[in-house]
Amino acid sequence: MHAFDFTAPARTDEALRLAGPGSAFLAGGTTLVDLLKLDVLTPRHVIDINDLPLRGIRGGHDGLRIGALERMTDVAQHRAVPPVVSRALLQSASPQLRNMATIGGNLLQRTRCGYFRDVTTPCNRREPGSGCPAQTGQNRAHAILGTSSGCVATHPSDLAVALVALDASIRLASRAGRRTVRLADFYRPPGTTPHIENDLKPGELIAEVVIPRLGWARRSTYVKVRDRRSYEFALASAAVALDLRGGRVRDARVAVGGVATVPWRLPGVEAALRGGPATEQAFAAAAEAAAEGARPLADNAFKVTLVRRTVVRALMEVSRS
Ligand code: FAD
Repeated sequence: MHAFDFTAPARTDEALRLAGPGSAFLAGGTTLVDLLKLDVLTPRHVIDINDLPLRGIRGGHDGLRIGALERMTDVAQHRAVPPVVSRALLQSASPQLRNMATIGGNLLQRTRCGYFRDVTTPCNRREPGSGCPAQTGQNRAHAILGTSSGCVATHPSDLAVALVALDASIRLASRAGRRTVRLADFYRPPGTTPHIENDLKPGELIAEVVIPRLGWARRSTYVKVRDRRSYEFALASAAVALDLRGGRVRDARVAVGGVATVPWRLPGVEAALRGGPATEQAFAAAAEAAAEGARPLADNAFKVTLVRRTVVRALMEVSRS
């Protein structure tokens, strides 16, 4: 492991003063410490943020506000948290990891692409311009949506998929002040710059997640399909919320994970559901658009069908609840 300075400030302004290019914040450490050990990340300065006042789950004028340092377990168990968010969290990682890991860290975890995590292989995300062996190598778990010739790695966070479906925002803090960004606008598809994964500036901190008030999101769920039932990332997942009246869909939110380079909202599927009957046939017709624009690789064409079926399964589950 690379040598680095370590600080654990107790005040946010102090942490922001110390942060900048070459520094990394440490929250639960369940991603960061792994990547330090693998030499994938080599910050000069690690800033432990666990003593900062970034906790609490409370209702605000703009929705439910969740401090970035809240642990995944505590967020999942909170009664004000919509089911789609709780279920996404409870199907993530393992109980031990969820007790340690924070929601801020979860949203900033890095891809699990094996080439990204292995410093002996090229990877455009880790080392710009070095290449992307996954295009022709082992790519069964990789993305079919939002890919480029530079990168086909999936976004790993289940929570982010649920939050994008609910149109959540994050509140960011830096020495320059505070700003709020819709999570859907925060993540960047790889394009020609796979190493720029999101809109976070050097030294900027996620302070809070804000989930807008959406009464009908009580009728929501998260379905995750993976190679084993726990401790595994998604091959395909669907976050769904439905506003149902008299057997018809008044409104819908749908986003998918495990198949795209960023959490992937499906406005075409939502539009196709709106005004239609809440039946399996109508759900299957709407879900046809779930893989629109997909570019499968040699080993992951199965995800085209899988993502459509996962969306239908989630819609059926919610319509029966
Ligand atoms: P850290 O490791 O402390 O930080 C992660 C990154 O975020 C670092 O770059 C750090 O600098 C940055 N950071 C942290 N907090 C902030 C902040 N507030 N502001 C700015 N930057 C910050 N996740 C899933 O979604 N689904 C899964 O199925 C899943 N399975 C897993 C299985 C294993 C074996 C492991 C090890 C992890 C798995 N994860 C999964 C990932 C896990 O959820 C993340 O590691 C965890 O949520 C990261 O949170 P943390 O607090 O530990 O972050």
